[in-house]
Amino acid sequence: MNGTPSNPHTTPFSRLRAALTERITRMTTDPNLNPDGPAFHPLRDLPAGTIPCALCGVPVAMAGDRDIITVLSLGSQRDPNSAHPEALLRHAQAQETTLTMTRCDTCGERRAAAVLAVAEFPEGRGRFRQAVLAEDAAELALATAAALGIPLVLGSVRALRFALDYLAPLGHGLTWRGRYSPRMVAAARRDEAASAPFSAVEPELLDEARRTFAEMLAARTARVVSVAEPGGSGCYLCGVGAVEVLSSAKARAWTTLRLRPETVGGRGGDLVVASVCWRCNDEFERQERTVGDRLMQALVLRAAGLENHLAARDLILRPTAWGVLGRREPNQSPWQHLDLAGLRADIESGQTGIEVAR
Ligand SMILES: [Zn+2]
Ligand SMILES: [Zn+2]
Repeated sequence: MNGTPSNPHTTPFSRLRAALTERITRMTTDPNLNPDGPAFHPLRDLPAGTIPCALCGVPVAMAGDRDIITVLSLGSQRDPNSAHPEALLRHAQAQETTLTMTRCDTCGERRAAAVLAVAEFPEGRGRFRQAVLAEDAAELALATAAALGIPLVLGSVRALRFALDYLAPLGHGLTWRGRYSPRMVAAARRDEAASAPFSAVEPELLDEARRTFAEMLAARTARVVSVAEPGGSGCYLCGVGAVEVLSSAKARAWTTLRLRPETVGGRGGDLVVASVCWRCNDEFERQERTVGDRLMQALVLRAAGLENHLAARDLILRPTAWGVLGRREPNQSPWQHLDLAGLRADIESGQTGIEVAR
């Protein structure tokens, strides 16, 4: 059978979608791979002679000039529903493994657009000071938009800056590579691929990405105001003295947490009331409202633009909160009291550790 697959339930919308995914439907005559078909399954066996696209997951025929992307996986995630403790143990002991992936033509074009945008609007890099980190982040932002099916053009400093801030942190989890690295999701197999671009992405992740995309669009056009710490001090964790928020969200700029200084690099086990900025508080919410090494590490890696850096994943950093240093002058930028540039250099050279800046 050639051309558009016949389907008695075809609607104008699904015809449009079929046209958009023509590249995919042309590749195959298998009705299970037609995204509009009743038998569509998001995953397929990896055909012989192909490797998956690291971004969207579709199989790509190997050819000499393809990018080779080596993906390091630290083994399977434990399946929390497994009834077999010995299986959990085997998973935990799984060896590191590498997978070979590439970029399909469409994702290759997206990569080129990401590299171009970073070169054209260097002020849009924001916290990603190094071009290569900004390029990776811009690619993830474009991949996020592609997974959602929403057009995104990184055509200005502002567009790039907001895409990197809002979309890049989600991107890795939406990619095919993210299924395997740093740890494989429990159901992942090495010999499978996505049936259509991004078809393997979990619906909950797409919902979160859709919400974040809407927030990004709102933020890009909204008025931004700077709100100083109410007591004239700094954020207890990152030390910043003022944060930028949308004018409609001023009330969210600062909040208080009760924490023990010994859990954030200080001394003393008594609870103190700590004023924290919305960025630190958002991460606190993400970390199941627990103050400790995990929260601190996540905040510092993000501030250093290293949250997607594989070498940073298994590190144990014990950064010191600004609030335990007894300083009066707040930081101009988050975590200025730490040597973030040194941390970046260490992680990239395979060393670890973090010092309080002198
Ligand atoms: Zn792709
Ligand atoms: Zn903070």
